Amino acid sequence: MKSLVIFSSLFILGIVALPHENTFAAYTQSSDSLKICLVDSEQVSGSGISYRYIDRDLLLCSEGCEMAFKKEPAKYMNEGLKCMPCGEDDANKEISSVHNGVKYYFCGKGCKGKFEKDAQRYLDKFNEN
Ligand SMILES: [Zn+2]
Ligand SMILES: [Zn+2]
Repeated sequence: MKSLVIFSSLFILGIVALPHENTFAAYTQSSDSLKICLVDSEQVSGSGISYRYIDRDLLLCSEGCEMAFKKEPAKYMNEGLKCMPCGEDDANKEISSVHNGVKYYFCGKGCKGKFEKDAQRYLDKFNEN
């Protein structure tokens, strides 16, 4: 019987402690700026989902938004799209290739061909930065 009491008080403590932790996390994270999901412009609660697209770290609120982004990144990127083989932000959204479910864009067919031959090497290169 005693162990049951200990167990239930631990359980209650757990429930009570949790919202405090979340409040603290939200406070520390929002100290720099308000976090907004890139896809649906919703305010991101907690830490959200950070996703790296080529050389940019993006913040998304849910897995649904992550999937929507991967399908059509050009819709959500407000700056220039990077063409990985040449490293310039001059990719054309009409020239794209899907790798591991993520769409990438290129400045021309030549770059697209280079990427498709050795996609992982280009992705690794930009992931290091
Ligand atoms: Zn979202
Ligand atoms: Zn290019």
